[in-house]
Amino acid sequence: MYDYLVLGAGIVGLATAYHLKRLDPDASILVVDKGSGPGSGDTGRSAAAFRAFFTNRANMLLASSSIRFYRGIQESGFDLGMRFIGYLWLLDERSRRRVEAGLREADRLGLPYEHVDPDLVAERLGVRVDVEGSEEAELAGLGSIVDAVLVKEAGILDPDRLVEYYYEKLVSAGVHFAFNTEVETLIVEPRRPLGIEGEPFPWQDARVAGVKTSQGEIRAAKKVVAALGAWCESMLRTIGVDAVSKPKKRQVFTLRAASEKLEAMLNARGFNEYGIMPFTLLPRGVYIRPEPRERAFWVGVSDDLGRPFELEEPPALEENFYTLGILPVLSTYVPELAGAYPSGGWAGHYDITPDGLPVVYEPYESDLIVACGTSGSGIMKGDAVGRVAASLALGMDEAELASGLSMPVRWLGVQGRMAERELLII
Ligand SMILES: Cc1cc2nc3c(=O)[nH]c(=O)nc-3n(C[C@H](O)[C@H](O)[C@H](O)COP(=O)(O)OP(=O)(O)OC[C@H]3O[C@@H](n4cnc5c(N)ncnc54)[C@H](O)[C@@H]3O)c2cc1C
Repeated sequence: MYDYLVLGAGIVGLATAYHLKRLDPDASILVVDKGSGPGSGDTGRSAAAFRAFFTNRANMLLASSSIRFYRGIQESGFDLGMRFIGYLWLLDERSRRRVEAGLREADRLGLPYEHVDPDLVAERLGVRVDVEGSEEAELAGLGSIVDAVLVKEAGILDPDRLVEYYYEKLVSAGVHFAFNTEVETLIVEPRRPLGIEGEPFPWQDARVAGVKTSQGEIRAAKKVVAALGAWCESMLRTIGVDAVSKPKKRQVFTLRAASEKLEAMLNARGFNEYGIMPFTLLPRGVYIRPEPRERAFWVGVSDDLGRPFELEEPPALEENFYTLGILPVLSTYVPELAGAYPSGGWAGHYDITPDGLPVVYEPYESDLIVACGTSGSGIMKGDAVGRVAASLALGMDEAELASGLSMPVRWLGVQGRMAERELLII
């Protein structure tokens, strides 16, 4: 029996446990995960890029708070591999039309960004901006780059180091962990059991009292937090709870910077103090994430329409997805990569909500806190999502963010949700 059970040792579960312990130091907390260590789910499969450049106020606050918190850790000497290399959007006419409203809203909100002359981008990165006359570009409906938008308060970090940070802090604060422990079911029972078979009945006041696991039953006196990421939906549906999010497969491919030109692209100067290319988004959402330590690029794209919501275990890389889904765009704008074949890669899942905002709520006053739906931006928002989940678990209406600002917990809930349409989705 613990006060709080946190299911899932990904970024959301770790941050929730961390802030629970911070706000309620005497609480006993157990974090349960089926993996052999923390971060073994999608947190460890992330591209771990971050930005606070969102038009939905809740998204923006979650990300800016988390980035501020991570920056504090980095500055205290614990290296999270955090590099503010920036985000660079390369826009053809079609993508410019798509982000226009987002940029207008960014202006209104005062979010800083700058336009960069596409020719300068071509010179610094070695990308091709004029694709007029390219048969491949025409076939794929890709246009010349007419604008480039650079967001400087953004970058990349090392998700494994982030996990290590929380894990070390939690262990030294006395939080317990149960790894290799698979949750099989959630235990739903009446607050006042009568010992009648078939309990709880609809007239009884029921709660989620704990979990049945591969290692036996574990109970929570106060709350159970489901921070199960892509597994939230399948676990919660068994007790009739809506996770409001669904899993969808995502893939990342590794390409070596195997030529002088590609080395020069990786180490592009003029964008940031590190002399590293920014996290770069080509038209149609294909991204190139520099990984300087491996002298490599990570490339990926989010495929939405047509990709089913399902959990694939274990998720496999699809070679065709690279050659047919990514390569046509990549080779149009980065001809040097046309012949590059991935040296590796991995697949995972996003757990996606309809509006792209994480979900934190307590259904049916059940003592169960649902904390999932990070929709592909769980690293950059993770710490703040943990703050909201911990605050809700403690019965607070507001969560204090790293900036000192506070956010109503209902903004991530089902009622009172800050469901403004996000205009800067990647
Ligand atoms: C390819 C890819 C690229 C991404 N890129 C970015 C990015 O650039 N920036 C960004 O911010 N985010 C990115 N993300 C998203 C980010 O990784 C996720 O939003 C985040 O990791 C979700 O964290 P989580 O704690 O909710 O889930 P997870 O990290 O998946 O944690 C859930 C945990 O629950 C455990 N679990 C599941 N079922 C059970 C069970 N039955 N019993 C016990 N334990 C269980 C799992 O083992 C897992 O450890 C990316 C994701 C992917 C897949």
